[in-house]
Amino acid sequence: NWSKEQEKFSQGILTRFGNIEMCPSSGILNYGQGLFEGLKAYRKEDEGILLFRPVENALRMKIGADRMCMPSTTIEQFVDAVKKTVLANKRWVPPHGRGALYIRPLLMGTGPNLGVKPASEYTFVAYASPVGNYHEGGLNLIVEDNLYRATPGGTGGVKAVANYSPIYRALTQAKAKGFSDVLFLDALTRRNIEEGSACNIFILKGNVISTPTAHGTILPGITRKSIIEIALTFGYQVEERPVPIEEVFDAEEVFCTGTAMVLKSVASITYQGKRIKYKMGAETVAQKLYGTLTGIQTGLIEDKMGWTIEID
Ligand code: PMP
Repeated sequence: NWSKEQEKFSQGILTRFGNIEMCPSSGILNYGQGLFEGLKAYRKEDEGILLFRPVENALRMKIGADRMCMPSTTIEQFVDAVKKTVLANKRWVPPHGRGALYIRPLLMGTGPNLGVKPASEYTFVAYASPVGNYHEGGLNLIVEDNLYRATPGGTGGVKAVANYSPIYRALTQAKAKGFSDVLFLDALTRRNIEEGSACNIFILKGNVISTPTAHGTILPGITRKSIIEIALTFGYQVEERPVPIEEVFDAEEVFCTGTAMVLKSVASITYQGKRIKYKMGAETVAQKLYGTLTGIQTGLIEDKMGWTIEID
């Protein structure tokens, strides 16, 4: 049962960015019945526009919708909406190498909901904004061992809007102390690392790259998935498994991945007052993986994986 806004969407209607009508007792406003996605469109050297793995975002939203008792768009509707949003905002796609157009699809319960139950009406919208590249320099993370973002059986493994409210306090405290981000631990054993506030994490030792298993309490990142596939083609051994915090101490390199940051090296991790520093710079494995991924995203490297869709 789709809302009036949705009917407009179904007809492929594009509107100027602005407020949408919302019932004060809607599912999203009262009970967090909402999901979002984030993906980017990049400008090629020849001015063409590439969309990076939109079907993956569509699939992740479908899985999330199922978890949250919401109807989902079809893969085709999702990708079509993203393409239309990018084409309508073509002039906002930054020049090659200077950033990207970030697209934010949102699926939400917009029907009235006084009691806790799935909404009777839903709305799907997509909006876009140009974003720059992240600044040079590494991330300085602080391990949070008191506040948690997700628990087993919860919604941590899908992109629920409400997953971000447990993060605010930890992130605000970390930023006030000068850190770039928080590294969350699992709520059950308080021993294994999980992820940052909006990024996945990898550690490297020798030829082995390890990253926490996406078993429901971390978001299965699309950048994470892409980096795993690239690392395998380079001959690294990739392990998806629980990664205890002690192992992070003697890693050679640590890096984080996400649509917004793409891939960034971690310069240091602070845990219970102890600060561990990691290898940074042009000679790192992180830099090699970053170069390959951004090369594919911006059309500089041939996309043998079939990850990009040229839309203009
Ligand atoms: N974890 C969280 C909590 C996130 O919000 C994000 C950003 N979507 C990620 C990981 C990275 O996912 P992706 O690579 O798909 O952007």
